[in-house]
Amino acid sequence: MRAARMIVAVDGPAAAGKGTLARRLAAHLGLPYLDTGLLYRATGRLVLDAGADPADPAAAEAAARRLRAADLSRTDLRGPAQDDAASKVAAVPGVRAALLEFQRRFGEERGAVLDGRDIGTVVFPQATVKLFVTASAEARARRRHAERGGQGPLAEVAAEMAARDARDAGRDVAPLAPAPDAVLLDTTALDAEAAFRAALGIIAAKVKLSA
Ligand code: C5P
Repeated sequence: MRAARMIVAVDGPAAAGKGTLARRLAAHLGLPYLDTGLLYRATGRLVLDAGADPADPAAAEAAARRLRAADLSRTDLRGPAQDDAASKVAAVPGVRAALLEFQRRFGEERGAVLDGRDIGTVVFPQATVKLFVTASAEARARRRHAERGGQGPLAEVAAEMAARDARDAGRDVAPLAPAPDAVLLDTTALDAEAAFRAALGIIAAKVKLSA
């Protein structure tokens, strides 16, 4: 499969399996991979470190503008507080504007697989292939709960995730939504291998069609 300068957009809600899938697709296609959620997580982290409110537009935008590559490799970007802060800063238009150019430059250099919420709708509306990866709310909550080592009540994880997805889908700028030309991939009944195979099939069909 010819992957040069191909853009593969992998969007979808939390814990749908986007990251695992996107990382594998990138390795298989020989493309750079960007987890765009990390940009929002690192921005949220900087706001929390400064003792400010992630929902405060001025504090959030200032953090996004001073983000450095090293911030993305911090080891404290995951967990409930970081999930919440990321989705709050992500609703601030100035934050999204500040992070847009980095994502575009990353993809334009050599092509890329990018996962996020608005890759196919806003960042790369001309992406070669757009996947919208979903799974039932129950399956996603179970996966996230397992990722956290089964700690705490499952219902709490499910509630946190529902609140975050509602905020991501309900915001005014770049809400979580499938692009009209995205192909839906429901991973509820698929393991990582089956999801990867299905995605490869979708990409092969798309690339052949437009070749
Ligand atoms: O994908 P991940 O769960 O790491 O994303 C964290 C948060 O960052 C999401 O809940 C969402 O609010 C935000 N995000 C976004 N647009 C993206 C990627 C992530 O708004 N492209």
